[in-house]
Amino acid sequence: MPLLSIEGIRKEYQVRGKKILALDAIDLTVDEGEFVTIVGPSGCGKSTLLNLIVGLLRSSFGRIVFHGDPINGICTKIGYVTQKDNLLPWRTLIANVEIALEIRGVDKRARRVQAEELIGRVGLGGFEDHYPHELSGGMRQRANIIRTLIYDPELILMDEPFGPLDAQTRIVLQDQLLKLWAASRKTILFITHDLIEAITLADRVVLMTSRPGRIKSIENITIPRPRDVFKIHETQQFRAAHERLWQELRPEVNLA
Ligand code: ADP
Repeated sequence: MPLLSIEGIRKEYQVRGKKILALDAIDLTVDEGEFVTIVGPSGCGKSTLLNLIVGLLRSSFGRIVFHGDPINGICTKIGYVTQKDNLLPWRTLIANVEIALEIRGVDKRARRVQAEELIGRVGLGGFEDHYPHELSGGMRQRANIIRTLIYDPELILMDEPFGPLDAQTRIVLQDQLLKLWAASRKTILFITHDLIEAITLADRVVLMTSRPGRIKSIENITIPRPRDVFKIHETQQFRAAHERLWQELRPEVNLA
């Protein structure tokens, strides 16, 4: 049984009395431990899809099944990392990372140990007592990711988490994310509009059409792991996958 099963999803928005079809006929299953990326042009409904999966929105048609149960309201077993880091400005880095465990009533010492371990894994050791405004965008986004990992969700949705970062920082964070994923083998559904990022990270790349978003194709990425994110694009396998996917994506992107 797949961990997540998206079945015939259609989503319409009502805008000033007019219907806008954002997503149509979306069918996708994601297995436990898989890293799936979704790539598509801006406005094709990628964020809408994640909001439906986590239960923040309701579909107009179809259903989403997680662990055998249809999603019906907010699901706390699913973690959601957004582009905006949403760190609390009055809390230090470590206090931000610990917050989900604090809410669950985990003992202070135990949550400190877990937070310190994750902070160290993403190279933020020494910054535990810094406030968000004292950290760079890349550091804040690392904190944002580990504050989701710390409560051990079974599925992690990521909505362009590296979108606002510069190219070098993005690559470093992609590398760290792959290492965190390899260590935890969490299931990740990751949205991006960057095809290179999509291929670098994924077991499968799901390519969407422009609005209304439909699945245009799915490509298995068999490049062996662990992957060298700094050099992966030089490999023949990468280039072949990129070429195939770009041919499909190109007509969907407004190049005007
Ligand atoms: P993406 O994440 O791929 O950029 P979105 O899911 O944000 O796309 O949006 C898909 C489409 O649905 C867009 O055309 C957008 O204008 C529309 N849309 C998104 N959210 C709403 C909303 N709350 N009300 C009305 N239309 C919306």
